[in-house]
Amino acid sequence: MSYRAADGRYERLEYRRAGDSGLDLPALSLGLWQKFGRDYPFATQREILLHAFDLGITHFDNANRYGPPHRAAEQVFGQVLRTDLAPYRDELVLTTKAGNPIGPSPYLKGGSRKSLLVSLERSLRDLGTEYVDIFYHHRPDPSTPLDETVGALASAVQQGKALYVGISNYPAERAHEVADLLRAAGVPLLVHQPRYSIFDRTPETSGLLKLAAEDGFGLVAYSPLAQGLLTDKYLDGRIPAGARAAASAFLSPDQLDDVYRERATALNDLARERGQSLAQLALQWVLRQPQVTTALIGASSTAQLDHNLAALNFPPLTDEELTHIDHHGIH
Ligand code: NDP
Repeated sequence: MSYRAADGRYERLEYRRAGDSGLDLPALSLGLWQKFGRDYPFATQREILLHAFDLGITHFDNANRYGPPHRAAEQVFGQVLRTDLAPYRDELVLTTKAGNPIGPSPYLKGGSRKSLLVSLERSLRDLGTEYVDIFYHHRPDPSTPLDETVGALASAVQQGKALYVGISNYPAERAHEVADLLRAAGVPLLVHQPRYSIFDRTPETSGLLKLAAEDGFGLVAYSPLAQGLLTDKYLDGRIPAGARAAASAFLSPDQLDDVYRERATALNDLARERGQSLAQLALQWVLRQPQVTTALIGASSTAQLDHNLAALNFPPLTDEELTHIDHHGIH
C-alpha cells in the first residue's frame, strides 16, 4: 500500500537547534546500527522507519558500516526512500559516516581523503539520494593528518554532496582542533556524536559538553539507553528472545551482572516514583543538557518508538532526583 505521512507529524516532538547553526533536529532521532540490514524482515524495518517519520522523527542516522553486512542498513533505507519517503526527502535529515573499518582495503578505513570521499559516493548510491544532510568522520584516525580529514569533510560540502559535517567519537581536544580547522575552511562543525548516557558520562568528564557550548556545535548523544541496559527488559535476570544482549556481539550477557541489576533496579524504582519507565527517565536525563541537540536511539519495534517518545511528556528531573541518579548511575 502506498505510504502517506501522518498529518500532524510535527506536533508530537520538540525540535532543538544544533549548536550555533540554523538546523533544528528532533529531540529523538533514529539510528540504523542494529536490527537493520539483510538479517531482519524488510517489512519490519520499513514499518519502524515510516512510523518514526509519522511521529515527527525527521533525522535518520546511518553509516557505511551498519548492517549486517556492512552497507546493508543504507541499502534498506534507500529502498524505503525510493518506495515511500521520496516525496518527503526535503523533510528528512539523512546522515552517513565513513572511517570505521569495513573491509581489508586500506581505502575502507581511516581518515584519508580517498577513504572518506569514495565512501560518501558509495553511500549516496546505496541511499539513493544526491546528498546527505550530515557527513561524519566516524572515529578519529591519528595516522592521518587532521588537515586531510577536515579537508575531505569540507570538500563534501563544497561539492554539494553533504549539507553539513560532523565527527564522532573524537576526544574533546581533537574535536576542538577540528572545529577550528573547519571554521577556517568556511564549513562550521555542525555536530559531534559521542556516546552519552546515565551509565557513560564521558562527555561530562572529558570537557566535551563544555567545548560544544564554546565551539558552537551540537551533540548527538548515541546509545542513550546504553543499548537497552537502561530499560526494564533485563531487570529480572532473563534475556528476552531476540533482545540485543541475545542477538548482538556489541552487548555481552556478561554485562548483566549483579552490580548492573542493582544499579538499574534503583534507577527503575526512581522512574516508577515519577510515574515513568527507566527508558523514559534515561532519555530525559540525556536531553536535560542544552548542548545535547538530540538523543539518538535504536528501536526494534514501533512500540519501542511510541514508548520512548512519551519520555518528552514528563516534568523535568529535579536536583534531588539528579543527585539520586548520580548515586546509582556512576560506577
Ligand atoms: P539505544 O541505547 O537507544 O539502544 C537501543 C536499543 O535498546 C533498541 O534497539 C532496543 O534493542 C532497545 N530498546 C529501545 N527502546 C526500548 C524500550 N522502550 N524498551 C526495551 N528495550 C528498548 O541506542 P543504540 O545503541 O541502538 O544506538 C542508537 C544509534 O546511535 C545507532 O543506531 C547509531 O545510529 C548510533 N551509534 C553511533 C555510534 C558511533 O560510533 N557513532 C556507535 C553506536 C551507535 P532490542 O529490542 O534489540 O533489545
